[in-house]
Amino acid sequence: MAVIARRISHLGTENAFKLGDDIQRCLDRGMDVIRFNLGAPDFRSAPHLNRVASDALDAGRSGYCDPAGILPFRQAIAAHVTRTRGVEAGPDRVVVTPGAKPPIGYTLQTYVDEGDEVIYPSPGFPIYESWVRFVGAVPVPLHLSDDRDFAFNADDLSTLITERTKLIILCSPSNPTGGVLSRDELAGIAALIRERCRPDIRIYSDEIYEQILFDGLEHESIVSHPGMEERTVLASGHSKGFAMTGWRLGWAVLPTAEEAAVFKRININIMSCVPPFLQEAGVAAYEDPASAGVVRAMVDEFERRRDWIVPALNAVPGVRCRTPKGAFYVFPDVSRMCESLGVGEAYAALPAGARSRTTPAGMLQMFLLYRYGVATMDRASFGRIGAEGQDFLRLSIANSMDDIRRGVARIGAAAEDAAGFAGFVAEEAARGDEGLFA
Ligand code: PLP
Repeated sequence: MAVIARRISHLGTENAFKLGDDIQRCLDRGMDVIRFNLGAPDFRSAPHLNRVASDALDAGRSGYCDPAGILPFRQAIAAHVTRTRGVEAGPDRVVVTPGAKPPIGYTLQTYVDEGDEVIYPSPGFPIYESWVRFVGAVPVPLHLSDDRDFAFNADDLSTLITERTKLIILCSPSNPTGGVLSRDELAGIAALIRERCRPDIRIYSDEIYEQILFDGLEHESIVSHPGMEERTVLASGHSKGFAMTGWRLGWAVLPTAEEAAVFKRININIMSCVPPFLQEAGVAAYEDPASAGVVRAMVDEFERRRDWIVPALNAVPGVRCRTPKGAFYVFPDVSRMCESLGVGEAYAALPAGARSRTTPAGMLQMFLLYRYGVATMDRASFGRIGAEGQDFLRLSIANSMDDIRRGVARIGAAAEDAAGFAGFVAEEAARGDEGLFA
């Protein structure tokens, strides 16, 4: 009998957290590391929200609360959804979760049986693929391409829907691409779902970046289209738009109160409740008029950084970067940079086992980190299936302009350093089993 149960071998991870060990190793060597890997705004949570939580603590509201979430917060979420998506979801359909990540696993556990097919965007948030495998479902990646700005339409989705499809995951604005689905694209997707999917098929709409849109775009949701509210699990929260990642405030709006009761039951089984004093600040985020200006200032700053970094990256030899419309990431194609550095040859020369654990973009990622002090994320970190031959990196612009400038300059220097790359690979090979590409 093994110590660890077999099912755990199917559980994936999020490399943005895993890369922390490599970054620490670089810091321990005295390097200065620019963290383009981070998925958290480099802003603090707003003082007016901090104050609400600390006042609630001082007032003694520090015990357990309703496992579905305190009523005022569920009401505030329902009102926010009505305001922004035009659907009337009462608080009995809302469940508060510790961040927007848990509803992904809750959804897979609630709706998907072994052998069911789940369609999800790739590249996409890695936790989708992780949970699909964990519940024994069949992963059906919907591949997004940069020449279409990482958007997709009903025709792309249509070819993937079968009799066995049980869940379709959407994410807009997207991590890692910054791609945004337009109202027309969503209308086409909704029409296709109405036509081709049984009523028991669920849509999971991950809208955690709903506030972070550029070029004057407004957030659009599948749930606003006819027939979608009764099939969609809509998830979002406070991590990104309100810069509250560590607070762990997220929520889901379920198609029915019965389905919300299932999510509540999962909450009860795992963590009882989200701390009530944090939820009080969650209410204020939606209701205090001071919030809008704080969010606007942050989004404007992300847009300013985007406008600087996209042309700067495109000026680096071998890099092609699209202009994201939302979230706070850029996702450049670095295949020509890999070519000129000889990354493909170095990858091909690795033993088969080592090749299966990395990718050419993964080798470039390590070179940038260990030799140039720039932490990025490779394409395979956002869904492994079908990632072969796609050399992309994700860079987060949740960094100061100064760090962004220094980071891009370092990437530019690395792009000209084929000898440095060859030396790096040789050094790692000489470290045998300890090497990065062993
Ligand atoms: N969904 C997407 C697309 C994300 O990028 C993230 C965080 O990076 C999450 C969900 C999880 O958000 P939270 O930190 O609120 O759990």
